[in-house]
Amino acid sequence: MTTVLDGNAVAADVRDGLRESIETLADAGARPGLATVLMSDDPASETYVSMKQRDCEEVGIDGSHVELAPDAPAEDLFDTVADLNADPAVHGILVQMPVPDHVDKRRVLRAIDPAKDVDGFHPENVGRMVAGDPRFKPCTPHGIQKLLAAADVETEGADAVVVGRSDIVGKPITNLLIQKAPLGNATTTVCHSRTRDLAAKTREADIVVAAAGVPELVTGDMLKEGATVIDVGVNRVEADTEKGYELVGDVEFESAKERAGVITPVPGGVGPMTRAMLLYNTVKAASERADVPIDLP
Ligand code: NAD
Repeated sequence: MTTVLDGNAVAADVRDGLRESIETLADAGARPGLATVLMSDDPASETYVSMKQRDCEEVGIDGSHVELAPDAPAEDLFDTVADLNADPAVHGILVQMPVPDHVDKRRVLRAIDPAKDVDGFHPENVGRMVAGDPRFKPCTPHGIQKLLAAADVETEGADAVVVGRSDIVGKPITNLLIQKAPLGNATTTVCHSRTRDLAAKTREADIVVAAAGVPELVTGDMLKEGATVIDVGVNRVEADTEKGYELVGDVEFESAKERAGVITPVPGGVGPMTRAMLLYNTVKAASERADVPIDLP
């Protein structure tokens, strides 16, 4: 029997686990606050930001939002980040990526106060994670670890293959999987666009994390019987639907389900976890700033 992991349910558990801590912090005068910044008129980015704001409202985090015109000067964005860094009511800052071409993305990541960097992309936080002392784990890889835990997937000693080497998914999940830490200790291979024989690698894996951004790249015949398959991909493909498209993952779900022991669907797998872990990091940031200890789920 294949287990289809319900990311919405696991994410709801994380949110439930955060609510009490949020009230503890609020009672101590430190209700967590998350500021989102959008410098884009891309509808997908707008949707992501509004979902994050809705999530905040739902659990009792103070959400605030700043919107800048995509053609505004880059300095406007850096001034906004500086203001949010200085604002004691803001514990987490999220600048929605991508930013326009005239803005230096790396400078944006460096501009955010590392203690408010709830995305976990500031070089200081990346370094701390790699060194085995994470402050904020990036939301998508952290969410993947929570999904693995929810399904009782043993990572210790497992052979894992990560497909993709991006800074936001591939590299950080690889780092977390190889850490000498709970939900780590996996022997991990990273595959990417120059990998010679992807199927030969994935067929050896107990755990496959697919984060390539290529629709249905990983098919059932590329999997070992009983493998755990985490599908990070979110790809719009043309379809005869009202919107004219549908969302598919980087895994061909139907064939993969025949071989996998555990598999995440798209949508409803990793996506909701990414959102939940952003709330988690915001609550952690507020607790550290206020020096109020709390339990995190
Ligand atoms: P990216 O484009 O930055 O990186 C893709 C990586 O895949 C690259 O490292 C590339 O080398 C590798 N790759 C591309 N084609 C390949 C192939 N044929 N074989 C092997 N490797 C290949 O993408 P990203 O930002 O890491 O995102 C990956 C996917 O995950 C996208 O579909 C994105 O929308 C999705 N995503 C989902 C969430 C979520 O919360 N569900 C979060 C982030 C990204």
